[in-house]
Amino acid sequence: MLDGASKVLFHLLAQSNGLKALASRYGMRRSQSFARRFIAGETTPEAIDTARAVEARGLLHTLDHLGESVGSLSDADAATREYREIGEAIVAAGIGRNLSLKLTQLGLDVDRASAVDNLRKILDRTDSAGFFVRIDMENSAYTEVTLDIFETLWEQGHRQIGVVLQAALHRTERDLQRILALGARVRLVKGAYKESKSVAHQHKADVDAAYARLMQQLLERGDYPAFATHDPAMHALAKQWATERGLGPERYEFQLLYGVRRDLQTSLVEQGHRVRVYIPFGREWFPYFMRRLGERPANITSVLRSIRDENRANRP
Ligand SMILES: Cc1cc2nc3c(=O)[nH]c(=O)nc-3n(C[C@H](O)[C@H](O)[C@H](O)COP(=O)(O)OP(=O)(O)OC[C@H]3O[C@@H](n4cnc5c(N)ncnc54)[C@H](O)[C@@H]3O)c2cc1C
Repeated sequence: MLDGASKVLFHLLAQSNGLKALASRYGMRRSQSFARRFIAGETTPEAIDTARAVEARGLLHTLDHLGESVGSLSDADAATREYREIGEAIVAAGIGRNLSLKLTQLGLDVDRASAVDNLRKILDRTDSAGFFVRIDMENSAYTEVTLDIFETLWEQGHRQIGVVLQAALHRTERDLQRILALGARVRLVKGAYKESKSVAHQHKADVDAAYARLMQQLLERGDYPAFATHDPAMHALAKQWATERGLGPERYEFQLLYGVRRDLQTSLVEQGHRVRVYIPFGREWFPYFMRRLGERPANITSVLRSIRDENRANRP
C-alpha cells in the first residue's frame, strides 16, 4: 500500500483538467495505449470482449461503468440509463451478470432521493435478470450515507446487492456488525482514498491488521464474503482460516482489479479458488486510473514506458 503522501499527490493530479485532457487524448487511443493496462476500453462492446477473455481464463468478473461525482441530475439520469443498457447488453452477450457502481455517479452529490431512485431503477431491471450489484465505497464522507441507502434498499427487498467496507477506516469494525446483522454480502478492501488520521489508520501495518481481523469475522459470520486485495499475505490468511473452519472455496471469493497481478489471479484459480476480476470501462476513466497509479507509484514507470514505445512505433 502506498504512503499517504503519494495518495495526496495523485488525488491532486486527478483534479487537474489539463492533465485529464492530455491523458484522455492519448491514454486509450490504441490497443497498447497506457490506460488500457487498467481500463478495458471506453465502450460496452470492449468491456464485454474483455469479460469474455476473463471468463476464458476461468475467472469471474464484475463490470464497472466508470463515472463518479456527477454534478447534475441530467448526468445522473444518463448514467442510470447507461447502466440499464449495459445490463441488457450483458444479458444479450450471455456473460456473467455482475455489476459494480458508485452512488455519486447516480447523483448522490446533487440529491440523495434522486440517487436512491436511480439505483432502484437499475435494480428493478437487474434483479429480475439475476444480476448481483455491488455498491462501491467512496471516500469517508460517503460511508454513512452509502450504508444507509444500502440498508433501505435491502429492507425494501433488494437482496441481490452487496456493499464494500474499507479496513482503513476506524469505524469499519462497527459497520461490519451492522451489515452482518442484515445478512448482506461484503466486499472487504483496504481502502483507496487518502483519509485523515481522525478517521483512518495511517500505516500499512495497521490497515493490514484491521483487514485480517475483519476477514476473520467475515469467514466466521459472513455470507459469501469477497476479499478484494492483491496482497498475498491476506490471501494466505484467508485460505488458512477457511481451511481451519472447514469452509470450502465455494464459501467466499477473492477479487482483484483488471490489469493488476494477473499472475496471482491465475494461480488462485489454479488452486481451486473463485476469483472475480473488477473490469472498469467507460469514457470517465481518469480518476480511477490516477488512484491505481497512486497505489503503486512504480506503475508510472510502466505508463511512461508504454508512452515511449507508442511514440517510437508512430515515428516514420
Ligand atoms: C475488486 C476490487 C474492488 C475494489 N473496490 C473498492 C471500493 O469500492 N472502494 C475502495 O475504497 N477501494 C476499493 N478497492 C481498492 C482497494 O481499497 C485498494 O486500494 C487496492 O486494492 C490496493 O490495495 P491491496 O489490498 O491490493 O493491497 P496493498 O497492500 O496496497 O498491495 C499489495 C500488493 O498488491 C499489488 N498492488 C496493489 N495495488 C496495485 C496497483 N494499483 N498496481 C499494481 N500492483 C498493485 C502490489 O504488488 C502490492 O505490493 C478495490 C480493490 C479491488 C481489488
